[in-house]
Amino acid sequence: MSLKTPSISAIKNKTVLVRVDFNVPLQKNQAGEWEVRDATRLLAARHTIEWLRQHEAKIILASHLGRPKATEVDGSGKTRDAADTQFSLAPVAEYVKKHFHWPVTLVSECVGPQVEAAVGSLKPGEIILLENLRFYPAEKKNEAWFARDLANLCEVYINEAFSNSHRNHASMTGVAMLRPAYAGFGLKNEVDHLSQLITKPHRPFIVVAGGAKIADKIGALENLANVADVVLVGGGIANNFLKSQGIETHKSYLQDTPIDAKQADVNYVTVAGEIISEHKTERILKDGYIPLPKIIYPIDAVAARSAESTQTQVIDLTHDIQDTPNDKPLAYLDIGPKTIELYTDLIKTAGTVFWNGPMGVYEQPAFEAGSKAIAKAMATATAHTITGGGDTIAALQHFKLADRMDYLSAAGSAALEFLSGATLPALAALARSTQTS
Ligand code: ADP
Ligand code: MG
Repeated sequence: MSLKTPSISAIKNKTVLVRVDFNVPLQKNQAGEWEVRDATRLLAARHTIEWLRQHEAKIILASHLGRPKATEVDGSGKTRDAADTQFSLAPVAEYVKKHFHWPVTLVSECVGPQVEAAVGSLKPGEIILLENLRFYPAEKKNEAWFARDLANLCEVYINEAFSNSHRNHASMTGVAMLRPAYAGFGLKNEVDHLSQLITKPHRPFIVVAGGAKIADKIGALENLANVADVVLVGGGIANNFLKSQGIETHKSYLQDTPIDAKQADVNYVTVAGEIISEHKTERILKDGYIPLPKIIYPIDAVAARSAESTQTQVIDLTHDIQDTPNDKPLAYLDIGPKTIELYTDLIKTAGTVFWNGPMGVYEQPAFEAGSKAIAKAMATATAHTITGGGDTIAALQHFKLADRMDYLSAAGSAALEFLSGATLPALAALARSTQTS
């Protein structure tokens, strides 16, 4: 997918609406006021916005925040949750004023005469931040009037919200169809990194897949398994793979049926088994002579009665394969030492490593070793290293290794959908606009 970033002449002295993802976590300070708890998403848009300021664009920023309820509109087009300060972008405006020194004004609406007046008096380099787009139920419903009113505020549209690009919302797709539309620099960079994984990874390409939410990850995992040379499975999702091969998982975490009722007949143990059997005949070579299967799951696990327990034991999964649910009421909470050795050895040989999902319950010191070993192996590998996922990044930060990765994707679901091979609606809208403008 070729997405165009704006040229200077496309934005100079123009009114530019930038759709950003300022959906940051907030917390209450001692005075009881909401403030920004983590500014990662604000930083992600910083380059594009400062570039626009430098080149004298008049800037309108638009974002959603949280999930205000779509109901109870009183004729204003806005939800009643608009009065609730927990959904206001005011703390974001304060943050960027204080830390980025942006000349920004928050307006309490997204469309209408008040906004039009504010936009009309914008000077080059100045910024208006619109209030939460989701105060208008029309945003999520992608209603034409809302997209048109937003588009009427600007001459040029920029999408700098990759993490929201899987959503067909008015500010994501609607506006992009009505104005010359460009990719923000951060979005373009993210798409380039993720595309490279599925089109031309430096080989060997190793995928490390863990975490808990198999329902969200399975599409990406299926697609990546086709492209990758090796898939190393760990974390809670490894239990699906073990179970599919008849290996008892006792009281381990297992997400086997979807939360989404529309796919109620899917079973993720079966799907894991299908991924293994689909790649059953593909082999990789370790040290030039040991043939290994392409899809590799743990050969041992660190187990305990619960994640809170510090009484742990290592279970050899190559032997403990009988179905004896009662004699070991144990949960597998991390990959074991032999698995760590195998996985980290392979990572050393990689050209590219993509890691999503912790190898164990890294929040507890007793079960962090697997994730820490993967993080360290990636930090020291010669491979191009890309990681994604909220908890994966949190784990990397916890181990102080986040800055040792070549690329961190904070885009969550959007990144996983992209890696599954799906066309994200907002990127499709950008690509179409780029062709016609
Ligand atoms: P990400 O946010 O990186 O995509 P997920 O949200 O899917 O990752 O999974 C992260 C969660 O998975 C963490 O809270 C971690 O404790 C949990 N987890 C990892 N391994 C296991 C396991 N073996 N059993 C239970 N939970 C696990
Ligand atoms: Mg998570």
